[in-house]
Amino acid sequence: MLMTVQDYKKTDIAFDESKFCSKLSNIFRRLKTTASDGKLEEMQPYLTESFYDKLSSQIAKRAENGIVLYTERITVLGVKILTVESSEDTDSITADVRYRTVEYLADKKTHEFVSGDKTEDFLTAVVVLKRQAGIKTAVQSGMTVQNCPYCGATVNINKSAKCDYCDRILNTDSFYWLIDAVAATHTDR
Ligand SMILES: [Zn+2]
Repeated sequence: MLMTVQDYKKTDIAFDESKFCSKLSNIFRRLKTTASDGKLEEMQPYLTESFYDKLSSQIAKRAENGIVLYTERITVLGVKILTVESSEDTDSITADVRYRTVEYLADKKTHEFVSGDKTEDFLTAVVVLKRQAGIKTAVQSGMTVQNCPYCGATVNINKSAKCDYCDRILNTDSFYWLIDAVAATHTDR
């Protein structure tokens, strides 16, 4: 069921649109940077399993061919929630992330461009985030007991950053939304 942010706040009272957008801005910038420098594992707690696997295999495939995707000087210019949707087992948010960056594929050894170049591009990414239904935004930060965003189990974050039930590694900053898809398109400015 599609709903407005206002309606969604009735089911998740602590949901804060501006906090969500600034968190997404931060995660998105880190995701682009870590995917580029081969440290994607750091972002695993912020990604759905299927999206993490997809990005990992893309990176592996490029590495096989000796190619690296370089993302440099990324700046997020704005984040806007487009739609909020709630179903029986998943809540999802689709948001626009506007950013500028220098992005190109290059040969790892010779540093020759395979595609793209060092000009700055203005892009808009449509980002889909998911959260298990029933999980609500924590009212206060600093909470030690959270719910695992993957399986919903109660997790003591101070005890371990890993879910005892499903063994997934969790982030410790109470952001339960997981990025499930990113589709970027060029914009004129
Ligand atoms: Zn779990």
